[in-house]
Amino acid sequence: MASSRVKRRVGVFGGTFDPIHAGHVEVAHAVLKALCLDRVLFVVTSDQWLREHPPVASAVDRFRMVEIAVENDPEFTASKIDILREGSTYTVDTLNDLTMQLGDSVTLYLIVGADSALSMDQWKDAGEIARLASVVVVGRPGLEFGVESLGEPHPASGAEYVEGPMIDVSATCVRDLLSENRPVSGLVAEAVGEYIEKQGLYRE
Ligand code: ATP
Repeated sequence: MASSRVKRRVGVFGGTFDPIHAGHVEVAHAVLKALCLDRVLFVVTSDQWLREHPPVASAVDRFRMVEIAVENDPEFTASKIDILREGSTYTVDTLNDLTMQLGDSVTLYLIVGADSALSMDQWKDAGEIARLASVVVVGRPGLEFGVESLGEPHPASGAEYVEGPMIDVSATCVRDLLSENRPVSGLVAEAVGEYIEKQGLYRE
């Protein structure tokens, strides 16, 4: 007899979260609602992520801030899967590990901001990504995103577009404000702000 079990729909939202800000949280809410997801995993990158500007706060602090930011949202979970894996963080590894862990009763939705989506063709094993998850691109203020402008093949060329909250905030802007001792209320959750203050993060 065929199984009537409906697959759970899980969003995978990867990021440095250095720190997690209102843009991240509202994007996750918007995609959860638009695609009727059951949950969203906030997957925090490791410290060994190869990029021009490495994370400022440690993976331990970035993960803790995500945990704090999502603790009152039952559909949201902070995931350590990329921190626990040895080496640099690559999305294809995240998706493969999650597929192994969660099994085939789950459909994965990879959530990426429009800025990240544009460079997805340069990601490791780019062709594999769209096979492992449905790609969901979320609008980011100041960025034009259209699948027709992407070269083929591109992991985001079949993506679903969700405009989302269009909140003009970045972690860079939050860090800059903090380094100048300026307030970040409204940009990060109050409890995250308290953690940053207590740990003395992002001060010059
Ligand atoms: P930074 O300023 O340090 O580069 P960031 O604010 O872009 O950081 P990341 O942790 O690098 O945050 O981003 C994680 C994911 O969230 C990426 O896919 C990014 O495109 C998306 N994202 C971040 N901020 C927004 C926002 N305001 N609106 C839409 N997507 C966002």
